[in-house]
Amino acid sequence: MARRKLIAGNWKMNGHLDHLRELHGIDKAAKAHPQVDVAICPPATLIAPAVARVPGLAIGAQDCHGADKGAHTGCLSAAMLKEAGAHHVIVGHSERRADQGETDADVRGKAEAAHRHGLTAIVCVGETEVERDAGDAEVVVTSQVAGSVPSGATADWLVIAYEPVWAIGTGRVPTLEDVAAMHAAIRAKLTEMIGDEAENVRILYGGSMNGDNAADLLAVDNVDGGLVGGASLSADKFIPIVEAGAALA
Ligand code: PEP
Repeated sequence: MARRKLIAGNWKMNGHLDHLRELHGIDKAAKAHPQVDVAICPPATLIAPAVARVPGLAIGAQDCHGADKGAHTGCLSAAMLKEAGAHHVIVGHSERRADQGETDADVRGKAEAAHRHGLTAIVCVGETEVERDAGDAEVVVTSQVAGSVPSGATADWLVIAYEPVWAIGTGRVPTLEDVAAMHAAIRAKLTEMIGDEAENVRILYGGSMNGDNAADLLAVDNVDGGLVGGASLSADKFIPIVEAGAALA
């Protein structure tokens, strides 16, 4: 089955209300290219205002708690994000794994919570530079997949994002051969875990994707879209990535 490409933006901790103006151009590009899926994950405070501004664009969140409610000061449940209008939630981003010490088990719990409340979970995995230099990248990443993906996951609510930590925000990207090898390894691990359904699960590449390199990265086997940080902050930079995805569909 052909997998539709998904181009998802992660604004991280950037943007105030006035930044939502960027969504108009992105929404227009998404409508002009209905053969690809487009989503933007702004800070949680902007989810509801973003949905109000561009009701046709898929808006996502950047994290959720694994529990549905409780004494977790400062956290947001998947149900709250759903109520705010989110369609997706990124879980296990390497910045959270590093800064908040999130484990694979935490990430799996968050993905399960997302599913319970009707959100698509974008589960992030990726090796550090030390791990790649040591020749351990595939072992590290496939073990993150094994630990972070809920059993019984299906493509209608699970997306994987392969994001080498050393490529995030650095302007460096892996070779296309390395991207192909890692995406194939991730799909093989998913097949062990969820059988034939693995063929339907989208595996995004993330890490310094931009308008210049997107066409090459998105054309790699098993690359079903992109998770885009810096270049998603402006419509001018993000739209060429959407167009590159659309041209391949
Ligand atoms: C990210 O953090 O998800 C990311 C891919 O960032 P950037 O595109 O800026 O490397």
